[in-house]
Amino acid sequence: MEMTINQTKVSIVQGDITSQATDAIVNAANPSLMGGGGVDGAIHRAGGPAILEECKKIVAQQGRLPTGKAIITTGGNLKSQYVIHTVGPIWHGGSRNEAELLKSAYYECLKLATENKLASISFPSISTGAYGYPVAEAAKIAVSTVVSFLKEQATSLKDVVFVLFDSRTYQSYCSALQVYLTRLEA
Ligand code: ADP
Repeated sequence: MEMTINQTKVSIVQGDITSQATDAIVNAANPSLMGGGGVDGAIHRAGGPAILEECKKIVAQQGRLPTGKAIITTGGNLKSQYVIHTVGPIWHGGSRNEAELLKSAYYECLKLATENKLASISFPSISTGAYGYPVAEAAKIAVSTVVSFLKEQATSLKDVVFVLFDSRTYQSYCSALQVYLTRLEA
């Protein structure tokens, strides 16, 4: 499923983000930037040690990565030249600013990609694995943040891809994007 906003294509696919060939793929990291399970582990395994080396240097310089922020490293052996690491919020029931922090995680990645003049970026479903964010809610925030960024900001990005690992998550993101497609047709 896809839609175009101001010359940028937003698409939703089911698959493994580590095999994407976009300029950057986004990692749902944790504040230590030292790797972990889920998509984080998969990216470090596929990309090799160069990614972790750069993460260590960044942590030595600026400390742990706060929730809602993003940094960029090499993509190592990945097809994508860069990995943008961000930290989504842990779900605590919704009263600890989770929605704003999730929005910020997507926004900071889009901003960093634009600052680095990247043409394409792939996102996983940030926070909906180990961090427990309800998928339908997270999908709405992910899609609305990308749509508003593309409507409001000048960007180098021509392609934004959501790469969802399982069919339930894929369906949730399609439903979230469908709302905007329906509005366009109306
Ligand atoms: P978080 O800690 O932010 O919740 P997780 O990695 O636990 O991050 O999960 C985030 C999402 O990434 C989940 O939907 C999970 O199924 C998905 N995921 C895991 N591995 C991959 C992969 N190789 N490509 C794309 N998505 C993945």
